[in-house]
Amino acid sequence: MANAPVQRMSQLMAKTLRDDPADAEVLSHKLLVRAGYVRRTAAGIWTWLPLGKKVLANVERIVREEMDAIGAQEVLLPALLPREPYEATGRWDEYGAELFRLQDRKGGDYLLGPTHEEIFTLMVKDQASSYKDLPVMLYQIQTKFRDEARPRAGILRGREFLMKDSYSFDLDDEGLARSYALHRAAYQKIFERLGLDHRIVAATAGAMGGSKSEEFLAPAEAGEDTFADCPNCDFAANTEAIAYDLQPVDGSGVPAAEDIPTPDTPTIETLAASLGVPASATLKNLLVKVDGEIVAVGVPGDREVDLGKVEAHFAPAAVELVTEADFAARPDLVRGYVGPQGLDKVTYVADPRVAPGTAWITGANKADTHAKNVVAGRDFEVDAYVDVVVVQEGDPCPKCGTGLRLDRAIEIGHIFQLGRKYADALKLDVLGRHGKPVRVTMGSYGVGVSRAVAALAEQTADDKGLCWPAEVAPADVHVVAAGKALQTELALAVSEKLSAAGVRVLVDDRAGVSPGVKFTDSELIGVPRILVAGRRAAEGIVELKDRRTGEREELTVEEAVARLTA
Ligand code: ATP
Ligand code: MG
Repeated sequence: MANAPVQRMSQLMAKTLRDDPADAEVLSHKLLVRAGYVRRTAAGIWTWLPLGKKVLANVERIVREEMDAIGAQEVLLPALLPREPYEATGRWDEYGAELFRLQDRKGGDYLLGPTHEEIFTLMVKDQASSYKDLPVMLYQIQTKFRDEARPRAGILRGREFLMKDSYSFDLDDEGLARSYALHRAAYQKIFERLGLDHRIVAATAGAMGGSKSEEFLAPAEAGEDTFADCPNCDFAANTEAIAYDLQPVDGSGVPAAEDIPTPDTPTIETLAASLGVPASATLKNLLVKVDGEIVAVGVPGDREVDLGKVEAHFAPAAVELVTEADFAARPDLVRGYVGPQGLDKVTYVADPRVAPGTAWITGANKADTHAKNVVAGRDFEVDAYVDVVVVQEGDPCPKCGTGLRLDRAIEIGHIFQLGRKYADALKLDVLGRHGKPVRVTMGSYGVGVSRAVAALAEQTADDKGLCWPAEVAPADVHVVAAGKALQTELALAVSEKLSAAGVRVLVDDRAGVSPGVKFTDSELIGVPRILVAGRRAAEGIVELKDRRTGEREELTVEEAVARLTA
């Protein structure tokens, strides 16, 4: 490979900024903009400037090398896709508002690909005809489009973003398990090489379908995911994926249910205070509409409902909160006093914590009235038990019972054993060993390539700026000319020497910029090593600084070059 030419800052298409962009909420957004890596083009849509493009390309290269290493073959599919395959799998509708749909001049429907299960399935259907053609693993590194509801957090959540997506095609479950294990191991290598601290946690398959699924999470404050970690055993899961088993109790000794007057207690807080009981003794019933039908969701009064879990349970049906108009249309539903006993024409979904035999204080379906000793399974029936509460710190580990720890994280990768959902919808068969058609089983695997850049920035930045791990940094060394012509001359000469030896060099040769500004910029830009041609340039002495530790030493030019090319 030819050595990269020295990148001169005097010519670099990127300006550093002193102030954080006004709309920036998270550290990576602030720093990547300030250091001149990216610029916002529209909400959730980003331009990569030269330094950013270099980091992005480094991430891509690492991902590509590790995918190639497990025998996956790189392809490139279009991003502009026809409607029909997504219609066949139901995702044209199920994807909802997140899907960018558009029409061509003839009125034909198209979409901008959010993920490509359908198109890969059709490609294999076209190319593979016999069991001899399988197994096969295919991947691409491509721009994806999702009209995210809240494109916040800079490039952590874009509406256009770069993803590596791969897909495995196998004849049987053992084959799928093997392809999945290969991907899992490749992802561990990728994230290790990237220098991303990460955890593998159990996940829900969500709208993707299929059975087993795990997420790769990068712990960071800015993350939108919460994961639970057991301090005692190996259990780790996205809190969305935690569901407790139903454990019925003996409620036979509970006296009969009775109504109690409770004026002005429409909230759990007012109710618990007026009765002098803990909120956990009360049953909270949240009303939602699922595809227009009212559903009540019951959870202990001291717990919050995780709407994401409710949505996941009813997907692809749409879940909405009830409105004034819904209460007006249903006088039997008394706001603030809803109870599951005697509720008519309402589906009742309860959390497993509302197990058969448990007794509750809950609404009596009359204004200013509650009922006590209301027993699940005796006084009301539960149509479906679904774990819907927000997991809290200290909740018991589903495996060993120890109190769970919760942390925020960024989802950087997701691997799924899809099974035959897409193969069934698109009829992907190959001729089996015994001459009969065999339905193919699939896996699907994603890495957020652009998101990984932001996740790295989140995890590695310090109070001075970005601080890249060596393999992804936009350069190996940032040479700073701190002075006048003499320093600039020396800086450029050292840069050429280093470049000739295969070192990637960014040199700050800007005229009329003070050494102070250059030092600040070098720390903001975050190249791992900084080489300063300054006060002792005339003697051929330079200073080599470690961006992370701040350690510095004076060396002769020869020593510095030897150190950097070692
Ligand atoms: P999220 O829960 O964050 O929306 P997802 O479950 O929708 O992610 P997948 O469909 O599994 O994500 O996509 C694979 C990978 O692509 C994710 O693990 C993530 O790293 C990345 N990714 C997903 N959505 C975005 C986005 N809007 N911007 C940047 N990267 C994304
Ligand atoms: Mg998403």
